[in-house]
Amino acid sequence: MSEIFNAEQRRFLKLLGLAVPGESPVLPLAKNQAASAPVQAETKAEIPESTASSLKAPEGIRTLRAAAGILSAPPKAAGVPQPVAPEPQPKILVEPEAAASLSDLPTPAESAEPQRLQQISASDWRDLQIMVHNCRACSLGETRQHAVFGAGNPRGSWLFVGEAPGAEEDRRGEAFVGRGGQLLDNMLKAMGLTRQQDVYIANVLKCRPPNNRDPLGPEVQSCLPFLQRQIALLQPRIIVALGRFAAQSLLQVTTPIGQLRGQTHQYQNIPLIVTYHPAYLLRSPLEKRKAWEDLQMAVQVYSAQSLPELFQ
Ligand code: URA
Repeated sequence: MSEIFNAEQRRFLKLLGLAVPGESPVLPLAKNQAASAPVQAETKAEIPESTASSLKAPEGIRTLRAAAGILSAPPKAAGVPQPVAPEPQPKILVEPEAAASLSDLPTPAESAEPQRLQQISASDWRDLQIMVHNCRACSLGETRQHAVFGAGNPRGSWLFVGEAPGAEEDRRGEAFVGRGGQLLDNMLKAMGLTRQQDVYIANVLKCRPPNNRDPLGPEVQSCLPFLQRQIALLQPRIIVALGRFAAQSLLQVTTPIGQLRGQTHQYQNIPLIVTYHPAYLLRSPLEKRKAWEDLQMAVQVYSAQSLPELFQ
């Protein structure tokens, strides 16, 4: 057989690692040697730095979502291979779809100036009013006519929270006095309440955003401590959040309003009910029925926790 191949061909077979007839056979790779190659390749299949960083939310959003408790359980990125070995893994933070609306939710304690925050949290009702009226913490302080602190009876048991003053509120310096305010008064009447007696009304933003645009994250961030202090001083028995901005800001979530309705939330141990904003109801009157269901639920929650006056 060996004469079948000339010297050149035998050298070529050897180079290829093949057995040359008449010579000792090429030893096969040991089992563990053979297996090691693909395993090494697998364990090295880490997420490239570029992919990992493109999946990371910007620093601001991560901080904001951390405040909303979203960071604690980051969703897994579909289709991204996970390293086999328990090596340090890059943090993969994927923005939840629902976060788009309030992705820049505020973390007041982290970002507003600590001194201002401390003053707010130590203020009484009157000092707080003065601080709001003098506030220039964001650019809305330059464009407003009036800062709007609130309206109604600060001794009332109910707190309704809206979004921000509109044109009429900005002009008059009082909350919910435009068309939305008229509808709100009718909603209150249907519940057997009045703003003069039972209800205080406040907003997340104390100043009007130009052209009634949506509040921006930094504006909410600057202003929310005022509302938080108002609630601490008012100690309402129940809170009704009007619209998604009020609900999401108070609850520090990014959940859509449709999912927040229909259940009793808690804001610092105070029951909180979510319903649609009167301005939305003016545009979508068919939704008034749902809002009425929410308000009836709020009355039930309130009644269940309050001892009627006759019993006191
Ligand atoms: N819309 C609000 O959210 N608040 C007001 O005070 C007026 C309109």
